[in-house]
Formats: sequence, C-alpha cells, structure tokens
Amino acid sequence: MRDYIRRLLIAAIMALCVSLLFLGGKQTEASMQDAKEIKTGWIWPADGVISDTYGTRQGTHKGIDIAGSLNSPIVAVEDGVVGKSYFSKTYGNVIFIKHPNNVVTVYAHLDNRLVKEGHSIKQGDRIGTMGRTGESTGVHLHFESHQMEWTFDKKNAIDPEKLLGHAEVGVAVKEGMPGNTESLAASGFLKGDKAHYVVQAGDTLTAISKKSNLTVAELKEVNQLKSDLIKPEQILVIDK
Ligand SMILES: [Zn+2]
Repeated sequence: MRDYIRRLLIAAIMALCVSLLFLGGKQTEASMQDAKEIKTGWIWPADGVISDTYGTRQGTHKGIDIAGSLNSPIVAVEDGVVGKSYFSKTYGNVIFIKHPNNVVTVYAHLDNRLVKEGHSIKQGDRIGTMGRTGESTGVHLHFESHQMEWTFDKKNAIDPEKLLGHAEVGVAVKEGMPGNTESLAASGFLKGDKAHYVVQAGDTLTAISKKSNLTVAELKEVNQLKSDLIKPEQILVIDK
C-alpha cells in the first residue's frame, strides 16, 4: 500500500514538472513573437559541438559548453580588452574579456592562453586553445557572459544564447561564424537572472526608466554609469 502511494506521488510530481515545462515553453514562444532583432555581432568562439547550455545542472551552469578538439583555436567573440588571464583551480586556464557594450566574456578550461591582462583584442583574434584544464571532464570550451562584471556568485550572468544565437545540445558551431540572433530578445529585453535591456538608437535613461521599475538614479547606480550618456547596443540591468 505504501508503495502504491509512493508511486502515485512520483507520478503527480512528474505531471507537475511536465506541465511547468509546457508553461515555460509557451511563455518563451510569446516573447519570441514580438521579438525585435538585436545585432550584437558576436561570433562563435570555437569549433565544436554544443555539449551543454545555460541554466542546466539545477541552474548552476552559467555558460555554454562547446566540445571540440584539443588545441583548436579559441577566438574573441567581439572586440575588447583582456581583464584577466590566469590559472584557476576550477576554470583552469581562463581569460576574461570586457567588451564595449559592458559585457564580460569568460573562456575557461583552455590548454593555452595567448593573451595577457590589458591586451586590446579584436573580434576573431586568437586568444588561446581549447583544453581540459581545471575542473573539466573532457576537452571543451566553457563560455560565459556577464553584465558589467563577473562575480563569484555569478549574479550578473546572461545566457550567452541571447548574444550568440540559438544553441542546442548536439548542434555543431563554427569558430568565427556569426551567431543567429534574428529571433532573439523581445524588443530589447534580454532574459537572464536579472532583467536586461539593450539600448536602442534614440533611447535616453529617462525613457528606459519609464519602461523599468528603476529611477534614472537607480539605473545609473546598478549599471555603474558615471554620466547620463548611453549608446545603442549597450546592455543595461533594469532591476535591482
Ligand atoms: Zn560549462
């Protein structure tokens, strides 16, 4: 009897999970419909096959994994400046690049690092080679993107798909190829752990403030803006 109840309970939980998944899917569909194109112009950082995506492992996986061959080139997704280049116990050989739109990209588990802190990088520049250093089970690139800065709790993480284009496990990607971002991001709003907004031409902080729950002062504070100056394609956090 107890066994029967347990089975019933498991079935109920599974039904709930499936319906939640279904609901989630519906919502994505709705926001995709009134989607507006964002051109961030990022390119794929490596050759390989997508082996994991953002938000898996109970939400702890804050990046995209691209599995490929040892020592294949890793390139910068966009122009930027190398913020950090070092060996970490978990990330292994890792490089952080800060881009003009205030997004920081992270390239982890590299075999080799070819750039140093402070280096200016052009999109497509080779910054390292693929490896399996640090806490990695196989040869792959673990790629993350963060708004403004990387933090230990990764609270500023953005799903790289929003900037790189659709990524699905098992799909092959080509280093240097532009991502398909056409159907992404609803009218400038990106979905991540926090709500983000991509500045459109003609936008002002006052106008963005009206679309968000933040005052101009709060917008400036959470985005560490020193003036009212914003530029198209800049990505802003729009909640606290
Ligand atoms: Zn990963």
